[in-house]
Amino acid sequence: MPLSFEEALATVRQELTAAELEPPIEAIPLCGASGRFLAEDILADRDYPPFNRSIRDGYAVRSSEIKAPPVQLVRRGEVRAGEQFTGDVGPGECVEIMTGAPVPAGADAVVMVEHVRVDGSRVEVSRPVGHWENVVLQGSEARAGSVVLRRGRRVGAGEIGLIASVGHDPVRVARQPEVAILPTGDEVVPLDRRPEWFQIRNSNAQALAAQVAAAGGRPRQMPIAPDEKESLRRLVEEGLGLDLLLLSGGVSMGKYDFVEKVLGELGAEFAFHSVAIRPGKPLVFGRVGEKYFFGLPGNPVSTYVTFELFVRPAIAMLSGGEFGSPVFLRARLGKAFQQKHGLTAFMPARVETRDGDPVVELVGWQGSGDLVGAAAANCFLVAHPGQTELAAGDWVDVLPKSA
Ligand code: AMP
Ligand code: MG
Repeated sequence: MPLSFEEALATVRQELTAAELEPPIEAIPLCGASGRFLAEDILADRDYPPFNRSIRDGYAVRSSEIKAPPVQLVRRGEVRAGEQFTGDVGPGECVEIMTGAPVPAGADAVVMVEHVRVDGSRVEVSRPVGHWENVVLQGSEARAGSVVLRRGRRVGAGEIGLIASVGHDPVRVARQPEVAILPTGDEVVPLDRRPEWFQIRNSNAQALAAQVAAAGGRPRQMPIAPDEKESLRRLVEEGLGLDLLLLSGGVSMGKYDFVEKVLGELGAEFAFHSVAIRPGKPLVFGRVGEKYFFGLPGNPVSTYVTFELFVRPAIAMLSGGEFGSPVFLRARLGKAFQQKHGLTAFMPARVETRDGDPVVELVGWQGSGDLVGAAAANCFLVAHPGQTELAAGDWVDVLPKSA
């Protein structure tokens, strides 16, 4: 019996969690850390903001004086961003202030420049202002010494900005796992060879390499394994020398599908051999010793989908991150459809906004070998086993297609 989609996902998560993976750590320049996973907590080196920061151009005032405008004040001077005002703002006084400048002592609010009339050193405030209005208080974003990013977080542009703001460079990240990509099949030929009319090019390895890199791993392309046990065994053994082995093809019921046999002979412990999903039912996951492998189905759309669902989160864990289960978004179904099988289906589809709602429609395709049809998709429509009849307008799950 195949596992359900949810059971299979939970199995991969449990296996990898139980393995207590501890990827090696390296320190790298912050500018090269995009896509990597933090191997240390990042702390605030001082309060953020480091001072009471004005978020408006205007006048720093004592708010208690501006309860019944208009109020006349005397301009004592100005403070620009990157400067400090040394005096105090006394009763009846104000200081002109720019966005990003520290609010001078004595003041507790900033009146926006739009709400004053200036005549020489006389400033007339025309609106009341609240205590600490237009000011972000020192330490309100983060206190010195507090954690601003946790170990395990994936670094993107926003995280790089934050890490730079606290002056943390270089940064310690987990080493990227090396992921072996092992295509199988007598009919599969390398890209630099012209296929005979009965052969096909090794497209899966290229697509998988792109997916591995996007997931945070380092793809390592292996030669194409023929459908012959001895050569396949040698390549599988070699692939198991890396951090994760991905095989494509050879996991179905065909006479020459040897992947599971060879893995079995190498002492593999299989966590599952198939999952109740379409496409991608013949999906194999397990380990040989401490090394994990996925036997992905050979049909290119199945390979793509099973990677996104199961391998991407596994690579995150091997990279020192958390198992990030795929997140489904929701859209309205454009056209009714039925399905009879009791599988979780992932069908190439397009989602676009119509009359303010996301609406999803299937693209025409010839099944899981059809890369041309699937290329028109920008998402996968997810139909769960119970959803046998879906009507136009129903809200359905959608798995966005990642880059
Ligand atoms: P298999 O799982 O080995 O039975 O393969 C299923 C289908 O996927 C067959 O039509 C194969 O030709 C195709 N296929 C297998 N490996 C690849 C690959 N590396 N690139 C593109 N298509 C493949
Ligand atoms: Mg094959």
